[in-house]
Amino acid sequence: MTDRPLVVITGASSGIGAATARAFSAAGHPLLLIARRLEPMRALGLPDAELAAVDVTDTTAVAEAIARAEERFGPVDLLVNNAGLMALSPVAEADPALVREQFEVNCVALVNNSRLVLPGMQDRRHGTIVNIGSIAGKQLYSDHTVYNGTKYAVHAMTEGMRRENAAHGVRVLLIAPGMVNTALLSNTDDGAVLEGYLEYKDSIGGGLRPEDIADAILGAYRLPQHISHREIVVAPTSQDA
Ligand code: NDP
Repeated sequence: MTDRPLVVITGASSGIGAATARAFSAAGHPLLLIARRLEPMRALGLPDAELAAVDVTDTTAVAEAIARAEERFGPVDLLVNNAGLMALSPVAEADPALVREQFEVNCVALVNNSRLVLPGMQDRRHGTIVNIGSIAGKQLYSDHTVYNGTKYAVHAMTEGMRRENAAHGVRVLLIAPGMVNTALLSNTDDGAVLEGYLEYKDSIGGGLRPEDIADAILGAYRLPQHISHREIVVAPTSQDA
């Protein structure tokens, strides 16, 4: 049993979330891992980890999972709001259900789940929330209109949450990755859009590894509580857009 504080990671069944789970586990933290698919989280085989097969938009189920994990490991000191999806297409061809889902998962769940841990962090005057934005929260890309909208919102809300929590001694910071080699494209089925994206990704060497983003999160978290990075943009050196 570890004496380090509890870390909660959403979207831990794949890509950046799974790599972040491995990194924090290696650093000795107990974990609460949240995603809809249980099996890939189980396959990580990490010690001191509560696994919750929960949809992040189900705030009640997330709250129950956090309560269970806190009972076992003590209060949450870090929440990584990483769960997200990207469905690329021009708006004229967008699937309305996916438009809604991108905002629900990328934005609404991020706020509602932060709300679950912030009061405790404020009371303890200790804690960190890391929101995973994107370089697509800083500039527009073709066929990214809805995803761009969600990530611009994440960036704005992270800065708002940061200001609200500054006087409480609680850190809220943004990690904005460039291209990372994960399953994020799995919700894009427009052939031409997919082809253009993959062509560019190949041309810059395939993108960063999820572990590269996990290292950035761990590095920011490890700073003393009174130092906050506020925003880290981390992209492949060869990415020019
Ligand atoms: P992946 O597709 O590999 O991982 C996405 C994760 O989100 C999965 O674990 C998935 O789990 C989880 N997830 C999606 N919807 C839900 C939901 N409703 N409830 C719970 N979990 C959910 O992609 P990445 O690792 O790339 O994405 C992680 C984050 O990084 C996202 O916020 C993405 O926008 C951001 N990002 C990614 C970049 C990239 O190039 N890859 C660049 C910039 C930002 P499950 O399906 O099991 O629920």
